[in-house]
Parts: sequence; C-alpha cells; structure tokens
Amino acid sequence: MTEPTTARLLIIGPPGAGKGTQAGLIAERYGVPAISTGDIFRANIKGGTELGKQVQTIIEQGELVPDELTNEIVADRLSQADAAAGFLLDGYPRTVDQVHALDAMLGGSSLDAVVLLEADADEVVNRLLKRAALEGRADDTEEVIRHRQDVYSAQTAPLIDLFSKRGILVSVDGLGTVDEVADRIASGLSAQLGAKVGQ
Ligand code: ADP
Repeated sequence: MTEPTTARLLIIGPPGAGKGTQAGLIAERYGVPAISTGDIFRANIKGGTELGKQVQTIIEQGELVPDELTNEIVADRLSQADAAAGFLLDGYPRTVDQVHALDAMLGGSSLDAVVLLEADADEVVNRLLKRAALEGRADDTEEVIRHRQDVYSAQTAPLIDLFSKRGILVSVDGLGTVDEVADRIASGLSAQLGAKVGQ
C-alpha cells in the first residue's frame, strides 16, 4: 500500500498509553523520523549535558519543561534535513502555547493528522509501574505517575478539542495488543490522510 510521501503527524495521549511504541511503528510506516521530546530530554540527562542538567529535576517531579526551552529544542530538531519530508511528533506539543509555537515553526503547512491514543487512567498506572521495574525511569513512581496524569488533564487534554476543531483528530482505543492498536491507527490514519488528499 502506498502512503503519501509527506506526513506531518503527532501522537498524543495520557502517560502510559503506549505512545512511544506506536510512534516507532507509525514513523516506520510513513518513512518519517519519530521525534520524542521525552527521549531527547532523557538522552541529555543520561549524557550529562547542560540541557540535561536543566531539565532533570523537572522531569523527575513529573512537571513540564518550560515551553520556551522545549520549543527551541523542537525547532532545532525540525530544521534537520530528515524532517523536511515529514515527521511524527511524540510528546510535543503538550500545551496550547506549544501548539502556537509549532504552528509558527511550520508556517502555513500545519499538522496533517493527530492520533489520540486513549487509555484508562488506572490501566496506565499499572502499565507504567511494570515499565518502571523494567526500565527504571525515575518518573515512573506511583506518585509521580499520578501527578503526570494530572498535568496531562490540565495542560494537554485541552489540545484534543483544538485538534478536533481543526478536523485532524484520529481517536484510537489504546487497549489491546501492540498489533491490534497499530492496525487501528493505520486504518484511522489512512482514512484521515486519504480524506485530506481528496479535499
Ligand atoms: P509520558 O508521556 O509517559 O509522560 P514523555 O517521554 O513524553 O512521557 O515525557 C516525559 C517527561 O518529559 C514529561 O513528564 C515532561 O517532564 C518532559 N516533557 C516531554 N515533552 C515535553 C513537552 N512537550 N513540554 C514540556 N515537557 C515535556
């Protein structure tokens, strides 16, 4: 199946919905880089860079890194050659201000589709606690997870309505196996991007 040659995509959803896994699969399918702000921050923390030092405590506490800093990092990443023909953003934008910053970065050509990965709050806490045991992420303690969920509800959930009004939201049930969820995303995205081509 031939997919469109450019795709500017975003995956959004509560912490623990499985965004990272699905982001990798979507990016592969559309031949675009998966750009995760969380991964960029964690790599910098691990590498002991200046940026890493700036964001470490914020991330460990489950707070959001300030918009100005996050916007700068994304602008830099999107200016790299491999993102010219499209990208899959994971974890950015996460606030209304970040949406406006991204709009400005992209000029007239904004996102083509936004995948909303839906998941029940208690289910995701269980998943994240399991991940904590495997990966040892410092922000995967129950207390910090609950706080990240609250931050998501307050700061990120309002974006769903915004993208829905733009007509680019693809809502997908995040419960099930990786393959089941990937299939739902693939058909939702094909319909959305196909619809766009026909406009
Ligand atoms: P999750 O979605 O499971 O919370 P992420 O890897 O997307 O995991 O993000 C981990 C942390 O990195 C966030 O809790 C936040 O501290 C920081 N972060 C990631 N993306 C952003 C962003 N767009 N704006 C501000 N902070 C961010």
